[in-house]
Amino acid sequence: MRRTLTVLSLAISAFSSGLFSVSAFADDQVINLYSARHYPTDEALYSDFTKATGIKINRVDSDDAGIIARLKAEGAASPADVILLVDAARLWKGEVDGMFLPVKSKTLESAVPAQLRAKPSDDGTAWFGLSTRARVVVYDKLKVKREDVDTYEELGDPKNKGQLCIRSGSHPYNLSLFGAMTEHLGADKTEAWLKGMVDNMARAPKGGDTDQIKAVASGECGIAVTNTYYLARLMRATNPADKAVAERVGVVFPNQQSWGTHVNVAGGAVARYSKNQANAVKFLEYLVSPDAQNHFANGNNEWPVVKGLKLDNPALKAMTGGNFKSELVPISAVGMNQIKVQQMLDRVGFK
Ligand code: FE
Repeated sequence: MRRTLTVLSLAISAFSSGLFSVSAFADDQVINLYSARHYPTDEALYSDFTKATGIKINRVDSDDAGIIARLKAEGAASPADVILLVDAARLWKGEVDGMFLPVKSKTLESAVPAQLRAKPSDDGTAWFGLSTRARVVVYDKLKVKREDVDTYEELGDPKNKGQLCIRSGSHPYNLSLFGAMTEHLGADKTEAWLKGMVDNMARAPKGGDTDQIKAVASGECGIAVTNTYYLARLMRATNPADKAVAERVGVVFPNQQSWGTHVNVAGGAVARYSKNQANAVKFLEYLVSPDAQNHFANGNNEWPVVKGLKLDNPALKAMTGGNFKSELVPISAVGMNQIKVQQMLDRVGFK
């Protein structure tokens, strides 16, 4: 209280002396954002929000696991206001661990379809999906036949021996894909499938998704697994090397004839101990506005969660031919399978 009084009296005297503008009150016009969105094109998203509202964004970048660990360590003293994560199972885990403050917002509830946000409780909704991305297969058009890689199951089939490049099995994008597979196939078949993938690897897992696509283009492997926006980025690149990579590889949205392609969700929440809840909600609401949703679609090549927006992304259009079938697995089921999946990965030696 004492400190507040001091700040107030300082501000009042500043006003009366005409030295400072309203920004002397800037304390409540800042939100602290803990973000796992590692996409440089997001800068425009944040600066547009600041331009529109005057609210500055103080960003702390880490990966999903790093953010959740930091929130736990900080506890009630955490300065975080808004959390952005890039994986559905991590969002679910954050909710289960009580990291988020449920919010009630008509804007968010009507913008985000029910299957892309937390199940609401009496207190509100713990997190909201903001964009989606599919986990697809790319292949060397010169060496691999499309029909040999048009299902996830075939990634573990002996016919693809020595061909597969994939990032670490323990990365959230893969844990969620494998968690969803466990729902489709059951644990035993999923573990056999994971073992099959280990047997099919062209090299031990290393690097991110873009590295896997490039390894296909360089001939080191015939098949790779990637999130769609990494491929779209290469397809839309202006530098000749990246363009050549995109031209060399074909893309498959797996399992179109069965349960559909695995789709993951990036989303946001208000931090449990936010001291700035109104502005935190305002920021999340901004992220479902047409401008921000358009940014997810065109800036980072993701699919917006808000329906009815005109999607004008040439790479996504070229990839899908317009539309594709996505799987319907509850996010909570994928989240609950994560520990089981990690144990399977350890058993089959999937690094
Ligand atoms: Fe990513």
